Amino acid sequence: MDNECFRADLHMHSTFSDGTLTPFELIERAKSLKLSGISITDHDSVLAYTPDVFDFASEQEIELMTGVEFSCRFEETTIHILAYNFDPLADSIVTLCARHVQRRERRNKTILERLRGKGIIIDYDELVNSAKGAVGRPHIANALIKKGIVSTIQQAFDQLIGDSSPCYVPGESVTIPETLEVIHQAGGKAFIAHPHLVRKKKMVSRIVDLKIDGIEVYYAKFPPHRESGWLAMAKEKGLLISGGSDFHGDYKEKNPMGCSWVNKEAFNKICQ
Ligand code: AMP
Ligand code: FE
Ligand code: FE
Ligand code: ZN
Repeated sequence: MDNECFRADLHMHSTFSDGTLTPFELIERAKSLKLSGISITDHDSVLAYTPDVFDFASEQEIELMTGVEFSCRFEETTIHILAYNFDPLADSIVTLCARHVQRRERRNKTILERLRGKGIIIDYDELVNSAKGAVGRPHIANALIKKGIVSTIQQAFDQLIGDSSPCYVPGESVTIPETLEVIHQAGGKAFIAHPHLVRKKKMVSRIVDLKIDGIEVYYAKFPPHRESGWLAMAKEKGLLISGGSDFHGDYKEKNPMGCSWVNKEAFNKICQ
């Protein structure tokens, strides 16, 4: 593969969290877009990484790098930490994912209680059955649409379950330092996800000064002038660079697969 043609989209979600495509369908889509590599970065879950998925990726000549997007709390804010190139069967990763399953169970029950307080009844078992891996707010949003309470996912977040909405519950907090330790124990590298979306820019510097390995410089459809500051920060601090679309399915127009990617050099540095 010519280095110039190599594009790897390192941020996307499958049906094991809040994406609409299975890992196999993501690989097929990547192939049709002529991507050379991908990482499937489900929220708090590594269930996508089964041997048959790796086999399918190599049949399709797609380099599949292990990935996951961990939810963390930092100074009362939710921060996403991307992990790459770790052993998905490592005890540390499996244990943290199991902890997130429990955190999400308790949190989802509390969100449903808050909705019940507003007269909106969603059955917990039905919610769980609507998802395969990490169950979260997008699944609750879909249940709200099904019930006719709202007509779009965006409306569900704006009116009921978004970070500043009445039924929002952050859930038990998992800190960034403990998440970084888990990732490093499993042989992986940790990146701050989409710093472009963090409201307090100084917070990003404080996070990067923890034991972070890199910054997700290229993200979704952000224009170059919104990426250059993060590229400069990565260079100044000697950090690795990652990038990806945050593709969840065709329903999110701002995140088509392949709209952000890294080249062969950045990909190889994460693999080393
Ligand atoms: P959770 O991990 O359960 O808190 O859900 C977070 C996910 O919900 C994010 O990864 C997004 O995919 C989605 N999400 C968050 N905010 C919004 C929003 N305002 N509109 C649509 N989707 C959102
Ligand atoms: Fe998501
Ligand atoms: Fe994220
Ligand atoms: Zn994501």
